[in-house]
Amino acid sequence: MKTISRYFILIFAAACLQQCSYSQNKSKLNIEKMDSTKKNNPVYSNTDTSKIALSDEEWKKILPGDVYNVARQKGTERPWTSKYESFFDVGTYYCAVCGNALFKSDTKFESGCGWPSFYEPISKSSIIYAPDNSYGMSRTEVMCGRCKSHLGHVFEDGPPPTGLRYCINGVVLDFAKAKEAEKKYNEKGGEKPKN
Ligand SMILES: [Zn+2]
Repeated sequence: MKTISRYFILIFAAACLQQCSYSQNKSKLNIEKMDSTKKNNPVYSNTDTSKIALSDEEWKKILPGDVYNVARQKGTERPWTSKYESFFDVGTYYCAVCGNALFKSDTKFESGCGWPSFYEPISKSSIIYAPDNSYGMSRTEVMCGRCKSHLGHVFEDGPPPTGLRYCINGVVLDFAKAKEAEKKYNEKGGEKPKN
């Protein structure tokens, strides 16, 4: 009898171990995938502001399929699928294709449209605009000011102070957390330092 219960305990432990190693492998794979995305991309930089003009073939080689589809083929990710849709950490959003700074987290708002939404870009030159009359709609397309990748559209139903809603595909966004000082400021409940 004792041997039998020992046997079952052993099986149970083995099953647990297998489960653990499975999840470890899974997260390791994700990290490797993220790193390789950047390693294969020679134009990615958070500091270089020089314009990038690559051929479609070259973009196809260096970008992951989902990023390529939105950025270079003007695709749209399915609504409510981006990890940045309901994400409100303090920091900066960059173009996932080239690393150009696009939006600050304090201009992000909950629009309910299913895509990450901002009311203002980080600077005038960070975004370029073009009329888009596809699908029988009259819209304004927004692209990255550095690499001209398609990001999304801008609509005139946003909150003050701009009244604009930059509706952006999360797959073409990278997020970097703010520096320590900004984090502390946020922890204090956003209270501004007294003069
Ligand atoms: Zn870009």
